[in-house]
Amino acid sequence: MMHELSYATSILNTILDTINSQDLKGKNIKKISKINLEIGELIFINFEQLKFAFEVISESTVCEGAELVAEFIKPHIVCKNCGYEGELEPKDEFDVSCPKCGSLSLKIKGGKEFNIKNIIAEFDDEK
Ligand SMILES: [Zn+2]
Repeated sequence: MMHELSYATSILNTILDTINSQDLKGKNIKKISKINLEIGELIFINFEQLKFAFEVISESTVCEGAELVAEFIKPHIVCKNCGYEGELEPKDEFDVSCPKCGSLSLKIKGGKEFNIKNIIAEFDDEK
């Protein structure tokens, strides 16, 4: 849970910082309705717990009630032992091994992403 909480905190801080940045100053953001994330599977996030943690910490901020949507990214591996190249289905963080030969000697590309792709905000009409 601590793991998910720290990611939830980083999402919230990033969004609040963005809202307070020069670009968006002066625009009245009523609320953030949706947050699209990109999460590498090697981070081993429990998405339900992440959503729950975010719901708790975003209370009474503009992010309250925002929907979190995640696109999970599979790691791409190259095995240094047998040459297998492809996607990896990680079972847990202690079992990241080649699906063909079981070697732990892998070159891993991707799978550790944690990005906010975009956010959907609702603005107050200033009429
Ligand atoms: Zn292999």
